[in-house]
Amino acid sequence: MSNFVHLHVHTEYSLLDGANRIKDLVARTKELGMDSLAITDHGVMFGAVEFYKECKKQGIKPIIGCEVYVAPRSRFQKESNIDNHPSHLILLAKNNEGYKNLTNLVSMGFTEGFYYKPRIDLEILEKYHEGLICLSACLAGSVNKEILKGDMEKAKEVAKWYKGVFGEDYYLELQPNGMREQVLANQKLIEIGRELNIPLVATNDCHYLKKEDAYNHEVLLCIQTGKKMSDEDRMRMTVDEFYVKSPEEMSDYFKNLPEVIENTVKIADKCNMDFEFGVTKLPNYDVPNEFKTHAEYFRKLCDDGIKNRYGENPSKEVLDRLEYEISVIEKMGYVDYYLIVWDYINWAKSQNISVGPRSWIRSRFNRSLCNRNYRYRSYKI
Ligand SMILES: [Zn+2]
Ligand SMILES: [Zn+2]
Repeated sequence: MSNFVHLHVHTEYSLLDGANRIKDLVARTKELGMDSLAITDHGVMFGAVEFYKECKKQGIKPIIGCEVYVAPRSRFQKESNIDNHPSHLILLAKNNEGYKNLTNLVSMGFTEGFYYKPRIDLEILEKYHEGLICLSACLAGSVNKEILKGDMEKAKEVAKWYKGVFGEDYYLELQPNGMREQVLANQKLIEIGRELNIPLVATNDCHYLKKEDAYNHEVLLCIQTGKKMSDEDRMRMTVDEFYVKSPEEMSDYFKNLPEVIENTVKIADKCNMDFEFGVTKLPNYDVPNEFKTHAEYFRKLCDDGIKNRYGENPSKEVLDRLEYEISVIEKMGYVDYYLIVWDYINWAKSQNISVGPRSWIRSRFNRSLCNRNYRYRSYKI
């Protein structure tokens, strides 16, 4: 078993800010002798499924997370020069509930908090914290920001708030990148950790695979910020340390603080989330009380529909066809899907809103019409 796990890692899904291709990233992790790996892209979880599958394929334990943006005030406040500087925060899913909460948070970051970046806020973080591990993130994390401003009291206050929400699942993140500000932040974080009894953990905020890839990452940053490599004032990383370091390199840097390395393994052990593939997950459709099952209600709607179209006594041919169609829908597990689609189409019609088939239905529909005439009737239910 490996003695170190990377828990703060960006992939190419940190758009224009991550140069790690998922397949190569997982292979490199394995090559360096590590057995688990986290994905924490900036504000998004686009890579989660691909990452999970690739890790499973290569025998690495996947940890699904995100480096979220936390709004300085409410996620609804969007005033320039105040609300466009969110803080960073690492969230990792411990279990399936945590994963669900994380997807909720990330979605709300887009639907409610979007202002330059998808932003969450402390209100929803508190509400959806269950099942999540929280790390204090890079120099753009809120504790580090206060440290760099020289306000240790405020830094402690922020750390206390997070500890109050996440309890023993809140960690202060130390990074071995050698930047002057980071060296200072590491020292102060150790002080805060000791004083407030908050555990510390080592991460490397991996943005690219190997040291020599730092240049490529700089080019990505230039594309993101619309600058040229020759521009003096471009946003840049001042060091080439944000690569996937080996466990030995990580341990060496923190040789006086072995617990920050051990804690990476403890965190990885706490994270046990599995995706369930091949199962259709539909929202539950609430059927009226007098019906015992969804299938029973679905059949009643079909019977009503047939009577509307063919009168009180449809022919045997029509009834046989209906029975066949219902049996296929039931066997395929699509009863709820049909109820949901029926519900919103029915509602739209009752409000005089035009409805029409989606293009893929139309193409299937046309194909079916050519091949088998009866399909037409099934779509008219
Ligand atoms: Zn960050
Ligand atoms: Zn990061």
